[in-house]
Amino acid sequence: MGLFSGKKGLILGVANDYSIAWAITQKLVDEGAELGFTHLPGEKMERRVRRVVDPIGPKLLVPCDVQKDEDIAAAFSAAKETFGTLDFVLHSIAFAPLEDLKRPFVKASREGFKLAMDISVYSLVAVSRYASELMPEGGSIVTLTYYGGEKVVPGYNMMGVCKAALDASVKYLAYDLGPKNIRVNGVSAGPVKTLAASAVGDSDKLAGLYEAISPMKRNITREEVGSTGMFLLSDHASGITGEILHVDCGYNVMGSPGQALEAA
Ligand code: NAD
Repeated sequence: MGLFSGKKGLILGVANDYSIAWAITQKLVDEGAELGFTHLPGEKMERRVRRVVDPIGPKLLVPCDVQKDEDIAAAFSAAKETFGTLDFVLHSIAFAPLEDLKRPFVKASREGFKLAMDISVYSLVAVSRYASELMPEGGSIVTLTYYGGEKVVPGYNMMGVCKAALDASVKYLAYDLGPKNIRVNGVSAGPVKTLAASAVGDSDKLAGLYEAISPMKRNITREEVGSTGMFLLSDHASGITGEILHVDCGYNVMGSPGQALEAA
């Protein structure tokens, strides 16, 4: 009997097998979860995601562009048909136009800002609302965030401001949904090589910074992000909500580069 035996969940955000959502999925599958997935609309996107998820025998694969309320409604309606109710939902989605991501934040465009906030932040609000309707006994919702929403991480630019809003959304959603026994938490992951990460300037160098500065003197592994996400989605985290849990080898506790300062 796995930790997730008899538990049903919807995963939003698998793009390929590098995706953080996939790292978390693998841990959930090991623990016996029954899973449904969404993909960006379009045959090409469907094929791409199907290739990744097919080996684990997904119960559901539906298109969903989180910019569209009707897509989110349709995805949760399909989940209701397939599963009846849901125990958990993983939201592992972010987007900002490349030209805005590359610019200093002071030069952010209004349209780019709106789009990035819509896809990377508001989507969690909408998804949580629909998810809560399928969680009559309670449940767990987890999103992915980054330290660049707490402190300035040069190169993270507009996405840092989105993550700050996402972190605040986690707390307000936790407050609203807490009485229904629905928990909302964020995993704040250190750098992981993914499609989304490749859009962030100097993302390769960031990992080296974690090796030099974090108390553990290394960067996190994909598996560690997977386990942390799985933990927060599980009943083992039943008393935790509104939390941003850092899985970053302790990088976020450092106020100065420590030994790296001596070496500099
Ligand atoms: P990824 O590219 O694999 O995942 C991003 C996902 O967002 C993709 O599946 C993509 O299809 C989806 N997406 C984008 N626009 C969408 C839309 N309109 N509708 C529906 N889905 C949409 O990259 P990832 O690194 O696994 O990113 C997942 C989450 O993890 C993001 O929130 C990211 O900010 C966060 N995160 C990543 C890192 C890292 O270093 N990779 C660190 C901390 C947090």
